[in-house]
Amino acid sequence: MRFDELNPKRVFKYFEEICHIPHGSGDMKRIADYCEAFAMARGLKYHRDGANNIIIYKSASKGYENADPIILQGHLDMVCQKNDDITKDFLTEGIEPYIDGDFVRAKGTTLGADNGIAVSMILAILESNEYEHPAIEAVFTTDEETGMYGAASLDYSLLSAKRMINLDAEEDDTVTVSCAGGSNFNIKIPLTREKRTGDYVNVTLKGLIGGHSGVEIHKGRINSNVLAGRFLNELIQKSDASLVNISGGDKANAITRSTSLSFCVEDIDGFNAIATDILDSIKMAISDREPQLIMRLKPAVTVFLSR
Ligand SMILES: [Zn+2]
Repeated sequence: MRFDELNPKRVFKYFEEICHIPHGSGDMKRIADYCEAFAMARGLKYHRDGANNIIIYKSASKGYENADPIILQGHLDMVCQKNDDITKDFLTEGIEPYIDGDFVRAKGTTLGADNGIAVSMILAILESNEYEHPAIEAVFTTDEETGMYGAASLDYSLLSAKRMINLDAEEDDTVTVSCAGGSNFNIKIPLTREKRTGDYVNVTLKGLIGGHSGVEIHKGRINSNVLAGRFLNELIQKSDASLVNISGGDKANAITRSTSLSFCVEDIDGFNAIATDILDSIKMAISDREPQLIMRLKPAVTVFLSR
């Protein structure tokens, strides 16, 4: 089956075009140019802002002039990831979609159906005169995947609709009323630095199941940073080890799967015994939820720490 045989035809026509335009998060100019050219070619009023967000307006179809307007929304950016054996440069090369039975896939990379398919659907609706609809305010936001930065800088005074259909859900046959929320926290913990001599020990917590913090948070999966906190909390009561470093997780929307900590300790054997004890009890307490958890203690070279 060829791409142009897929239905709805116009949706997949736009989707294929979007695949050919590099549009990873942070690289929004070309895809915004594409949407702008779309609006201009069809004489649709639009507004593009400094963050490359685009709003395209379409008036109501006949008979719906007095109906409340509606926002249709999707995001222009995609997450660019590739298999190890793929040499694609996402800044210069598009995605290569292909049809595999009932699925559209990409050769060795992410496809960008999140959220290219929403953009394609909205463009197909905007260009069509077949559908009956109220006035449409089509909102295409940028850099959603990295922190909704486009949406955060959108000028809402450009919108008059009070209702919105967001087309960035996870399932194509489900309508969700309301949405998942998210919060970012910046926490500052006062710490005392000290000069110390001793052995350097790494503690790694890994092998947790992890998952998407938006869609899998209810599955009882454990965040390794929370475990690290539990470990530290017990450790400080039993040992005089000094924390040298702690790090875990690199994405705000992923349940953190691994955390590593390092310590400077005076009595390495004593530390190992205490730490192993605490780690064993943590492992036991969560073994039904996280059977694959691996906790590793690794002594490293003796180092001299200074301010
Ligand atoms: Zn999305």
